[in-house]
Amino acid sequence: MATGRPLIQRLCIIGVGLIGGSLARALRDAGQVGEVIGCGRGEDNLQAAVRLGVIDRYLTDPAQAVAGADVVVIAVPLGAIEPVLRAIVPSLSTDAVVTDVGSAKGSVVADVQRIYGAIPPYFVPGHPIAGTEQSGVEASFATLFQGRRVILTPLAETSAAAHRLIQRMWQLTGAEVIDMGVRHHDAVLAATSHLPHILAYTLVDTLARLDDRAEIFRYAAGGFRDFSRIASSDPKMWHDICVANREQLLEMIALFSVDLERLAAAIRNDDRAAVLATFQRAKRARDNLYLD
Ligand code: NAP
Repeated sequence: MATGRPLIQRLCIIGVGLIGGSLARALRDAGQVGEVIGCGRGEDNLQAAVRLGVIDRYLTDPAQAVAGADVVVIAVPLGAIEPVLRAIVPSLSTDAVVTDVGSAKGSVVADVQRIYGAIPPYFVPGHPIAGTEQSGVEASFATLFQGRRVILTPLAETSAAAHRLIQRMWQLTGAEVIDMGVRHHDAVLAATSHLPHILAYTLVDTLARLDDRAEIFRYAAGGFRDFSRIASSDPKMWHDICVANREQLLEMIALFSVDLERLAAAIRNDDRAAVLATFQRAKRARDNLYLD
């Protein structure tokens, strides 16, 4: 617990779910936040957030919730970011810094550009590379970001002071903070996160529509459980990510489809060397990855 003046006097979290709730918990544990105001649409989740000590109080009107906050974190699904931004602009404090946690960054920057006509210096786009397949404040926990990476995609217009504050905020959660360009972020995440989620959802959907699905799922072993876990993620959130990162995701799906078809052809043609070589290459790559 830190002593003295906390880094953030009044934090407003719009969207007190897994990510927003975990951030509030981590900053509280670090003793680096004065008051935490929550905002969302459903009072049940917000009341649970108060009960769990994640936030001090809440408002359901984003414009009222941001009044007097020195840091505003927008942690709603990507499709809700634009209306939230529009609602809060008139009531932000003059020295407020605004950031988001959206899983794609190009769409958020485009939203901001559309609303303001330019990128305001106090806006710092961000994305914590941490999460689970659970949603809502009850699923949040203070150590979610420990040892994880948070990517910030500051723009030429972003003020150095706002950037530093958001960097510091995430460092206090135990995360390593990295800067990246917006397009590069979206390309990297399309490959490492968005494509795997599409594959998991599609695999489970394909199997779940087979006539003998009950039999198939009854005998599902560890491999299927590991591979399919992320298909339990929130469908609306992933719908929004597909819409937001459409272009980069389609490129990855096309690349993967070519490789899948190549493997299918090798199996069809009894090209055993090609099948084995694919699996050997993949095993080598997977074994050399740092994954926890
Ligand atoms: P979550 O647990 O479902 O939380 C989202 C919160 O936003 C909910 O508390 C919801 O509460 C609120 N909300 C939804 N629509 C809203 C709206 N129109 N206006 C105001 N509040 C609204 O989701 P999450 O996993 O924390 O994800 C939040 C953001 O983090 C997303 O943009 C996602 O892309 C990003 N992200 C997620 C992960 C992950 O693995 N989960 C990782 C990194 C980044 P109400 O329904 O009560 O409004």
